[in-house]
Amino acid sequence: MISSVKKSRIFLSPPHLSGNEAKYMQEAIETNWIAPLGPNVDAFEKELADYVGVSGAVAVSSGTAAIHLALSLLEVGKGDTVFCSSLTFVASANPILYQGAEPVFIDSEPDTWNMSPKALERALRDAKLQGRLPKAVIVVNLYGQSAKMDEIVSFCNEYEVPIIEDAAESLGATYKGIPSGTLGKFGVFSFNGNKIITTSGGGMLVSNDLEALNRARFLATQARDFAPHYQHSTMGYNYRMSNVLAGIGRGQLEVLEERVQARRSVFSKYQVELGHLPGIYFMPELKDSKSNRWLTALTIDEKEAGVSVKEILDLMTNENIEARPVWKPLHLQPLFRGMKYYSHHETYSVSDQLFESGICLPSGSNLTNEELIRIVDCIKSLNLGCEKVQQYG
Ligand SMILES: *Cc1c(COP(=O)(O)O)cnc(C)c1O
Repeated sequence: MISSVKKSRIFLSPPHLSGNEAKYMQEAIETNWIAPLGPNVDAFEKELADYVGVSGAVAVSSGTAAIHLALSLLEVGKGDTVFCSSLTFVASANPILYQGAEPVFIDSEPDTWNMSPKALERALRDAKLQGRLPKAVIVVNLYGQSAKMDEIVSFCNEYEVPIIEDAAESLGATYKGIPSGTLGKFGVFSFNGNKIITTSGGGMLVSNDLEALNRARFLATQARDFAPHYQHSTMGYNYRMSNVLAGIGRGQLEVLEERVQARRSVFSKYQVELGHLPGIYFMPELKDSKSNRWLTALTIDEKEAGVSVKEILDLMTNENIEARPVWKPLHLQPLFRGMKYYSHHETYSVSDQLFESGICLPSGSNLTNEELIRIVDCIKSLNLGCEKVQQYG
C-alpha cells in the first residue's frame, strides 16, 4: 500500500477528559491543597466506594500499589505462594515478588478468557495435599470482562483462601448485577492513562473491611505511629494519591457510565463491521455479566482467515494505527521462568492459544466513526477468507 502522507495516529486507549477535571483541580490549587491527601482524595474515595457499593476505598498512587497493599494486608511473605491469572499484565503479579513470595499461574478458560475454575480447583487440591495452600488468589477481569466468579469464589471459600480481584481493567463492569471489583476480600482499580477513566496515574483499593483499609492507609503513608514525633515500628510505603490527581479522578468518575457505553458501542460497531468475516472471533461476554469492553479484543483463526495476526498488526503499524497482541501470559515471561502453571486442560493451554491468535483494536471512548472506519477498512483490505491476491507496491 502506498501512502506518502502520514495519517494521524490512532491510539489503542487514550485518555478522554470530561471537562470537569479542571474544576476540581482548580479547587485544589485555590485552596492550596497541593499535597498528597486532602478534600479531593476523601471525596474521590467516598464517591468511588458509593459507585461500586462497598464500605470503603483507599486512593493510592497506582493499581500496582493497591495490589501490593492487599498482599501486605494478607501478610503474604517469604515462603508463601499466591495464585494469579496468567493471561494479564505483569503488574498483577509483580507485587507477589515484592513480598518475596512465589506466584503460581492459572490458565484462562474460553468463555471469559479469565481464570479457569477447573485449573484453579486442580491447583488448590494439589496445594492442599502438599500442605501449602496459597495466601491469596489474584483474579483478573481481562479487558473489562468478569471472570467466572461464582465458581472461583466457591472454590476459594472451600479452601479458605482470600481473593484479590484485580479489576484494574473492569471498572464499571458487572457480574450478575454486582459491580466488578467487589466480589473478593479486596478489589483493585487502576487510573493509569490507558484505563477506562484516569487520573494520569493512580489506583484504588476497595473492601468492606474498614479496619483493613485503615491499616492500608497507615502502610501507604510510611507507617507512621500515632505520636507527635516521627516514630515507626513497621515498614511502610509512600503510596497515597495526590489531592490534585484525585480532582481529575472526581471529574472522570462523573462520566464513567458514558465511558462504558462508548466503549461498548465501539465494540458493537467492530462486531457489525468485521464479525461476518471468516476467521474473526470476538471476545465473548459471559451471560448475566456486563463487560465494560475496555479493549475490543478478537482472535484470528489463521487457517480460516488466510491472514496471520502478524500481517494484520504490521499493516496497522504501517497505517499509524496502534493495535496490540493480547497480553503475553505470565507463565511464558522470562521473569517468571520456572514458576508453576496450571493449564485449563491437562494437555492444552488456553492462554497460550489466546496470545498467539489475539488482537486488541483501538478502543478509546473518544474514537471517532471516521477512525473506526479507517481501522475496519485496513482489516478488510486484507481480504480475509479470500485467495491471496498479489499486492503491488
Ligand atoms: C493496568 C493494570 C494494572 C496496574 O495498574 P497501574 O495503575 O498501572 O499500576 C494491574 N492489573 C491489570 C490487569 C492492569 O491492566
